Amino acid sequence: MSLRELAKRRLPYPAKQGLKYIYGAMPPRFHYGKIFWKTYDFLKESQWWSREKLEEYQIQQLEKLLHHAYKNVPYYRRVFDERDLKPENIQDFGDLRKLPYLTKEIIQENLSDLIARNYPKSRLQYVTTGGSTGIPLGFYWERDVTDLKEWAFVITLWSRVGFELGNRCLVLRGNIVRSANKGKFWEYDPLKKDLIISAYHMTDELLPNYIMKIREFRPDFIQAYPSAITILARFMKDNDIKPFPTVKAVLCASENLYSWQRELLEEVMKCRVWSFYGHAERAALAAECEYSTYYHVFPEYGYLELIGNDGNEATKDGETAEIVATGFNNFATPFIRYKTMDLGVFSSKKCQCGRQYQLLERIEGRLQELIVTRTGRLISMTAINMHSDVFDNIKQFQFYQDKKGEVIFNVVKKNTYTGKDTEYIKRELYKKLGDDMKLEIRFLDHIPRTKSGKYRFLIQKLPIEFGENDKFRKNF
Ligand SMILES: [Zn+2]
Repeated sequence: MSLRELAKRRLPYPAKQGLKYIYGAMPPRFHYGKIFWKTYDFLKESQWWSREKLEEYQIQQLEKLLHHAYKNVPYYRRVFDERDLKPENIQDFGDLRKLPYLTKEIIQENLSDLIARNYPKSRLQYVTTGGSTGIPLGFYWERDVTDLKEWAFVITLWSRVGFELGNRCLVLRGNIVRSANKGKFWEYDPLKKDLIISAYHMTDELLPNYIMKIREFRPDFIQAYPSAITILARFMKDNDIKPFPTVKAVLCASENLYSWQRELLEEVMKCRVWSFYGHAERAALAAECEYSTYYHVFPEYGYLELIGNDGNEATKDGETAEIVATGFNNFATPFIRYKTMDLGVFSSKKCQCGRQYQLLERIEGRLQELIVTRTGRLISMTAINMHSDVFDNIKQFQFYQDKKGEVIFNVVKKNTYTGKDTEYIKRELYKKLGDDMKLEIRFLDHIPRTKSGKYRFLIQKLPIEFGENDKFRKNF
């Protein structure tokens, strides 16, 4: 057993703590193993490659993936055979369109045929996702490969805003902190040097304790779900609490970061607020860089297509399109032309950082994060970017739609909330929603998070008609 595995094991006596602490104190080179470092060192170089060289690399990876899928994955063998295709028939990105999309529904129905036959069970790691899309998915990663490669990509991304291995992170994500119910709402991970705090106990009574603990910890970075760090930032703003001086950046992930959240976080935390787009399916990864908040699509991670509402590839600046992804880092359950149901906005710009990557102006979030008006217009949650004073007297909010042209705005009030706020909110929201929407405001005591601790700003019960997604519409 490797030292890493040993350190990961939960031994039933206090020695485990000692081992973890010793291991955590070792230089980063001793952590994470070969696959991590190989990927990390490769990315350091490849990020500065020319467009031609990156494309050449992508074609090579694609070729490797397609041959593997054809040889070892029964579902793909069938897909090729039905079309009278061989992997050799796919020579470039255009040829890839000869293969059909992989939808969430196909994965649900064909999982056993999607597992590569050359991977023994012991090398498969089962993963589930889909809480926020409403379509639960289960699939496999390569054990001890997919997650280590992912970590190398993520560290590479974070290094754009100054992160170094061994830095101290405050983690405010969906982690369950077991001792939280007994009043200790944090735990320390000596391996990663993370202070993990519970996103489920952020009440006005407990938040002063959170802030005290964070000050004592002196984090270099904050890793957070945007919704969770927003609660902390709102509290700090309302109570005139100073930012944490050691924090270099707030690293957001796992939920869409809306621009009103970015504004609030920058105002309160007085540091860079940075975000990336990725998913458990490990097929696409895109992130902001040193200079820009545009999402840079990582070509070393996979091949990404942006498919517009008309079924064609997006080519116009500002065009919203679905992200369709082919991942290079998981051969256990290959995802080829996978329809993510996530929307990105195409950009033809080049970034001053010098990376020759495809850019997305922003991520629009998931298809379910669109509101449908009476006339069939789709309004993205990113477009409902209200000035933050509209929310001043609101603790939490959530949109809910189950009828076309009507939306309910659920509000958890603060003590300072009055009838004036209702009028103000209505006026501001109607400006964004337009005349073909009916808005109703309802008051609730509490809005729950999803099972994974994420927060949904819109519960959308209607089928969203976008592009060629008819196959999964019945799932809504
Ligand atoms: Zn850039």
